[in-house]
Amino acid sequence: MTAIHPEPTPSKAHQKAKALKPGSVRPAKELCSECGFCDTHYIHYVKEACAFLNQQFDNLEQTSHGRSRDLDNPDELYFGVQKTMMAARKIEPIPGAQWTGIVSTIAIEMLKRGMVEGVVCVQNTKEDRFQPMPVIARTPEEILAARVNKPTLSPNLSVLEQVEQSGMKRLLVIGVGCQIQALRAVQDKLGLEKLYVLGTPCVDNVTRAGLQKFLDTTSRSPETVVYYEFMQDFRVHFKHEDGSVETVPFFGLKTNQLKDVFAPSCMSCFDYVNSLADLVVGYMGAPFGWQWLVVRNETGQEMLDLVNELIETQPVMSKGDRKAAVQQSIPAYDKGVTLPMWAAKLMGVFIERIGPKGLEYARFSIDSHFTRNYLFVRRNYPQKLAAHVPEFAKRIVGQYELPEK
Ligand code: FAD
Ligand code: SF4
Repeated sequence: MTAIHPEPTPSKAHQKAKALKPGSVRPAKELCSECGFCDTHYIHYVKEACAFLNQQFDNLEQTSHGRSRDLDNPDELYFGVQKTMMAARKIEPIPGAQWTGIVSTIAIEMLKRGMVEGVVCVQNTKEDRFQPMPVIARTPEEILAARVNKPTLSPNLSVLEQVEQSGMKRLLVIGVGCQIQALRAVQDKLGLEKLYVLGTPCVDNVTRAGLQKFLDTTSRSPETVVYYEFMQDFRVHFKHEDGSVETVPFFGLKTNQLKDVFAPSCMSCFDYVNSLADLVVGYMGAPFGWQWLVVRNETGQEMLDLVNELIETQPVMSKGDRKAAVQQSIPAYDKGVTLPMWAAKLMGVFIERIGPKGLEYARFSIDSHFTRNYLFVRRNYPQKLAAHVPEFAKRIVGQYELPEK
C-alpha cells in the first residue's frame, strides 16, 4: 500500500525552490498550521500538498491505503479506512509518556529491528518543555526524549530536507493529521524506499502563546504543568511537576476568554482521526486509561504486530447516545458560554454517569468539533466551504440543525 516509487531525480524547479524565511507569511496565510513543510524546498509543491489549500482525502486515501473510505460504513464514515480498531495499553507503561507509550514503543521497536533508519518525531527545547523541536531520531534514547505531547503547533515537516540529504531509504514519521496530509502528497519525492506513518488524532491545537493563555486561565498552577489531556470523563486533567493531578470540567472552561485561543487551522480542520496514517494511536474511542488504535492497512498491521507481546488489548465498545448533547452544545460552543464552576461540576458528574462511552464518546467529540469547525469556515471563509469540507464531514455535520448564517 505504502510502497513508494521514488522519482529518479527531483525536478529542477523543486531543487531550485527555496524554503520560506522564518516569520514570513505562509501560503495558507492565517490558516497555516505551521506544519514545517514551507521551511523546506518542498514548498515548491505547496499548492497541491497543503492541507489548508487543497483538500484531497479521496485521492490520498487511495494512494495510502489502496482505497478511499466507505461512506456507507458508519465506522469508516467517522474513523476512516480501517482493517481493525481496538483498545490497548502497555503492560508496563513508559513513565512520562502521554498515555502508556504505545507510540514510542512501536517507534523504538522499528528502529531496533532495522525496519527504519530514522524516526521523525518531536522533542522539546531545553528551555521550554512545551516548545516543539522536531528531530530525526536515530537511537531509542532520542525517540524516548520525544515522548509526551507538545500541545502546540509543531513544524515536524521542517526536517524533510534533512531526510533527503541523509540518503535515508526507510523512514518512520510520527505526526498529526495536517502534517501527514502534506507528507503523503510528496512522499514519492523524498527518495525513500519505504515510509511508515504512525499518526495520532489531533484537535484544538494552539500556538505556544495560545497554550500559555489556556494554562493561565484554566490551571491553578500554570508554571508547574508537565502534561494535560481532555479526557473521556469530560474533564481536563493537568499533571503537575510534583505528580499531583488537577481536574477541570470541560463545561467550566472559561470559553469566553478561550474563544480565540485555538489556531484558525484547527478551527477549520476535519482530519481529527488522522485519515492518512497507516496506524493511529489515540485514546478517545477507548475506556478511560486505555489507548484507542485504528489499523488502516497492512503496513499499520505490521507496525502493531511488533508490540503484540508488550500490550494488552480489548475490543472497542460503544455506549450511550451523543446526539442530544451535541445538538445542545452547538450554540454554547458558538457563543462561548461559560457555566459557573458548581454547575459545571454537576453537569460533568451527570454526563459521566449517563453520557457516551467508547466509540460513542469519540463520535461525540468528532460531531462537536466538526459542527463548530463547519460554522467557523462558513462564517470566515465562505468561498472555501464547498471544496475544503470533505464529503464525510458534510454527512456528519448534516445530522444536526445549525444556526442560521
Ligand atoms: P508517547 O509515547 O508519549 O509519544 C507521543 C508522540 O507524539 C511522540 O512521538 C511525539 O513525537 C509526538 N508528538 C508530540 N507532540 C506532537 C505535536 N504537537 N505534533 C505532532 N506530533 C507530536 N488523541 C485522541 O484520542 N483525541 C484527541 O483529541 C487528541 N488530541 C491530541 C492533540 C495533540 C496536539 C497531540 C500531539 C495528540 C493528541 N492525541 C489525541 C493523541 C494522544 O494524546 C496521544 O498522543 C496518543 O494516544 C499517543 O500516546 P502515547 O502515550 O502512545 O505517546
Ligand atoms: Fe505551508 Fe504547512 Fe502552513 Fe500549509 S500548513 S502553508 S504546507 S507550513
